[in-house]
Amino acid sequence: MGNMSISMPDMEQLFSAIPAGTVQWIVYCPEEKAQLGEAMGSSEQAFTVQKRHNQLTGHTATVNPYFDNPALEGLNDSGQVQNVVFCILYDGRTFGPYFPLGSTSEEIEMSVANIIRTYNETAVLMGLPPLFTAIAGACRTPPGQ
Ligand SMILES: [Zn+2]
Repeated sequence: MGNMSISMPDMEQLFSAIPAGTVQWIVYCPEEKAQLGEAMGSSEQAFTVQKRHNQLTGHTATVNPYFDNPALEGLNDSGQVQNVVFCILYDGRTFGPYFPLGSTSEEIEMSVANIIRTYNETAVLMGLPPLFTAIAGACRTPPGQ
């Protein structure tokens, strides 16, 4: 009671609200430093793969958007994900980790800028304020905190 903070968007709801065709989805496992399988067309499918993998292995794989960015075409073809992590924040609180595509700092910055723009546009579609930001490095607090 008396908590004035804005409620955190649910990750699965946010991802499923991103307009179809805007992004594809990958599941990235930080323990294996690898993408699991191919890019997927639906976030629901990606969450299914993620949950099954994490239940079986105890790993902390995450669902990440995958932008079909012409500047990253070569990387998209190889399906590689860099082992670089950002922490996505909403209203200054942890939303979750993001493993951007890109082999140069410019490509990684573009990837992070794309995700923040897409998340904020989708938040507005959901009737929420566009409060997503990103910081370099792993998240320091659990989601929601
Ligand atoms: Zn794994």
